[in-house]
Amino acid sequence: MSRKLRLMIPGPTPLPPEVSEALARPMVGHRGKGFAELTARLHEKLQRVMQTENEVFILTSSGTGGLEAAVANTVNPGDKVLALVAGKFGERFRDLARAYGAEVLELHFPWGAPVDLDAVAEKLKRHPDLKVILTTQNETSTGVVHDIRGLGALAAEHGAVLAVDAVSGLGGIDLPADAWGVDILVTASQKALMTPPGLAMISLSEKAWAKVAECRAPRYYFSLPAAKKALAKWNTAYTPAVSLFFALEAALDLILAEGLEQVFARHRLLARAIREGVRTLGLELLAPDEAASPALTAVKAPAGVAVDDLRKLLLDKYGVLFAGGQGELKGKIFRMAHMGHVDRLDVITALGALEMALNELGHKVTLGGGVAAAQRALLGGAE
Ligand SMILES: *Cc1c(COP(=O)(O)O)cnc(C)c1O
Repeated sequence: MSRKLRLMIPGPTPLPPEVSEALARPMVGHRGKGFAELTARLHEKLQRVMQTENEVFILTSSGTGGLEAAVANTVNPGDKVLALVAGKFGERFRDLARAYGAEVLELHFPWGAPVDLDAVAEKLKRHPDLKVILTTQNETSTGVVHDIRGLGALAAEHGAVLAVDAVSGLGGIDLPADAWGVDILVTASQKALMTPPGLAMISLSEKAWAKVAECRAPRYYFSLPAAKKALAKWNTAYTPAVSLFFALEAALDLILAEGLEQVFARHRLLARAIREGVRTLGLELLAPDEAASPALTAVKAPAGVAVDDLRKLLLDKYGVLFAGGQGELKGKIFRMAHMGHVDRLDVITALGALEMALNELGHKVTLGGGVAAAQRALLGGAE
């Protein structure tokens, strides 16, 4: 029998059948009328899912390309940029700003903790000339969600542009971008948006566009003025990943049909159930309840269990793929993603497989204990 793979990593995530089907459509010309109509529809749907009235650009690249576009179009060499670092993806945004010659100030927070707004406020007060703040919505390496609403208020008061990496949260975790003062919003196709890897989406507020006008950093493929000019004709500057555009529309249709509020509630419910289950097994969660991600749960490996052995057993024997830790958390945690095309039984599967694998590795837990706790949370959940 071919193995049935259960992807529980934070990207790529499982595809709904409607999305897979869209991928198989015949190719069309990307300068034709049909493709322009598709781009216009996608634009309207993306604005709804990204909760913004700003123009949204679809770039054919992975999420990091979207982050690079954000930096390359707004940061001049020597500009003061504040990077909020509480995990691997906070580091990546910081590294990008460094690569473009920014003077990068950093605020570090423990991996597994949220950004501390008081520390950010203090830093902003001391640096009135700071141009851009780089942050992560859902820090995928730790399963922590940062307070974007709070950061938006601080950025608005200070005048700096707030750039948010929402690659792994958008479409699963509520982020009213305009209402919360997000100036640059970046996301990608392969996580909560249930589409294969290969597309990044970016939108910019008027405040951010003012920075683009002043920007002298070199850029070509990721030039947003070029993207803007093309979008005016419902087109892209260069050849887009046409099949992924088809797939993205199918995924956005599913999200909009379910309703954004319902999608967010489903993610919150699944996260609560999985956390209850993990706790009941006597394992420790990395993120505190108040900042826990609805899309991904990081669990500390119990003493005596090697994360690599656990992941290997889960994959080889049960076809369940969890993610390991990254950076300083490598070998210390494993991560279960529950973003995008996920439902209640995915949580039961994850916990059931985890219980069996832990027992097989000599870490005795009560079989069914985590599963039962999750079932109770799923039945009791008002969502
Ligand atoms: C996955 C991810 C990215 C982008 O990674 P790519 O591999 O370039 O798509 C960026 N930020 C966060 C928070 C992510 O989870």
